Amino acid sequence: MSADCIFCRIINKESEAEIVYEDDEFIAFKDLFPAAPVHLLIVPRRHISTLADLEAEDAPMMGRLIGVANDLARSFNLDRSGYRLVINCGKEGGQVVFHLHLHLLGGKALSPAIAEGRGG
Ligand code: 5GP
Ligand code: ZN
Repeated sequence: MSADCIFCRIINKESEAEIVYEDDEFIAFKDLFPAAPVHLLIVPRRHISTLADLEAEDAPMMGRLIGVANDLARSFNLDRSGYRLVINCGKEGGQVVFHLHLHLLGGKALSPAIAEGRGG
């Protein structure tokens, strides 16, 4: 838990979010400013600031994170049409909230330009 972290506050139910999935390890909710018809954020409950802070032993957790994203893609009917998973890392990587999270975007044809980041 990081005191002034908005995602920790959502995890602790101190801030509102439209939660679509929860388990012991992850929470997923709708992005407040969606860049696509489906725009979910899948967030480990443990506060890890950025992708660059991951340790080797976090690899299985990151695998499960992608598993949760794939399950959500299926439940939001994106698995056939396609979708995009994005992790922004650090200031120049476009990260705004410094609690590791995976964006799941879909529901329209996303821009193929990877440099546009969220691809909305
Ligand atoms: P980042 O740029 O850090 O990868 O993405 C942060 C994302 O969190 C942005 O897409 C932004 O719209 C979303 N976001 C920021 N604050 C909140 C909030 O309080 N609630 C929700 N649901 N999303 C938020
Ligand atoms: Zn946090």
